[in-house]
Amino acid sequence: MGNDFLEHSLGSLTTTAGTDLGAQTAVAPEVVKRARQRIDVDKLYEAVLAGDRTQIARAVTLLESSAPAHRVLAQELLVRLLPHSGKALRVGLTGVPGVGKSTTIETLGMKLIREGHRVAVLAIDPSSTKTRGSILGDKTRMAKLSAEDNAFIRPSPSAGTLGGVAKATRESMVVFEAAGYDVIIVETVGVGQSEVAVSQMVDVFCFLALAGAGDQLQGIKKGVLEMAEIVAINKADGPNLKPAKRAARELAAAMRMVRSENELWHPPTITMSAVEHEGIDEFWGHVMEHHKVMQDSGQFEERRREQQVGWMWSMVHETLLQRLNTNLNVVETQKRVEHQLRQGEITATLAAQEVLAAFDAVSEP
Ligand code: GDP
Repeated sequence: MGNDFLEHSLGSLTTTAGTDLGAQTAVAPEVVKRARQRIDVDKLYEAVLAGDRTQIARAVTLLESSAPAHRVLAQELLVRLLPHSGKALRVGLTGVPGVGKSTTIETLGMKLIREGHRVAVLAIDPSSTKTRGSILGDKTRMAKLSAEDNAFIRPSPSAGTLGGVAKATRESMVVFEAAGYDVIIVETVGVGQSEVAVSQMVDVFCFLALAGAGDQLQGIKKGVLEMAEIVAINKADGPNLKPAKRAARELAAAMRMVRSENELWHPPTITMSAVEHEGIDEFWGHVMEHHKVMQDSGQFEERRREQQVGWMWSMVHETLLQRLNTNLNVVETQKRVEHQLRQGEITATLAAQEVLAAFDAVSEP
């Protein structure tokens, strides 16, 4: 199902993921009323609960919209769906392009469906927020899984800031959970801040890597190893099996360096072949074990609660930044003080104070 269809079915709805929360309060009632004529929140709510695929897609498109009226309706829908959400296991998956994420999700997803699960796959593609092109958007990915009734693959929201895309993805999780999907996989490519964003919205964060011995290891960011709770060296097959085992040992050693000894969970490093379906059961076994350890210790719920607080603040920060950047008074002041600063006429501290004063002057009632 293409975006064209969705956009058509939602009238003039735009799919740019944005974050300015303030737009919601500023929107005129008649604009919301008009939007309501095209989008029936009650119907959407019922249809999502009933697992209607077309309506699930519409609901997610609504969440991704940056149009102020759609924001209002989206929040109404979310508040109603919220009590029905939260029951899925949320699994994050990261790794560089080509590491085998989609092959892994396809193999794992088919296994989970055979076991009676319903699987939603969401993506956060940081490349799409800049170029509108997409690393993860290839339609041929996960062909078998996407044909399954019990699977739903939703590509990354196609534009906006990373914060906006992350927000849309987090909110989409509510829709899929309310619709009865009990495993949510959120994938991202291993670049930039998107890994942090994904790790902050999942129950377990998994890192896929490739064999390439020491030199490859250098390229792996320490931050990713700190976040990773399960590490899998993929493509451990054929002539690559031995190097993969070696890489797994090296990575396991690297993990011990960056993680604390007295942590509740010691991240396992395994080898896997997504194409040969080797190690997928072991991989999922670790996910389940992690889930059990976290639940038994009370950390599972604690983590979700903390994530809520974290999300709230990230939206506040993002919205403030957006308002700062679009504030006309600030833009005017900025030009002047940047010039003065470059000429050495004022200090950076004074310049910063002026910019903030310009912001406060219009944002304070
Ligand atoms: P992604 O970009 O991380 O989603 O990677 P893909 O899943 O699209 O895989 C990239 C390429 O690697 C494809 O040609 C896959 O067939 C291949 N591939 C994925 N997993 C394996 C594996 O376990 N073994 C081998 N030999 N190739 C794999």
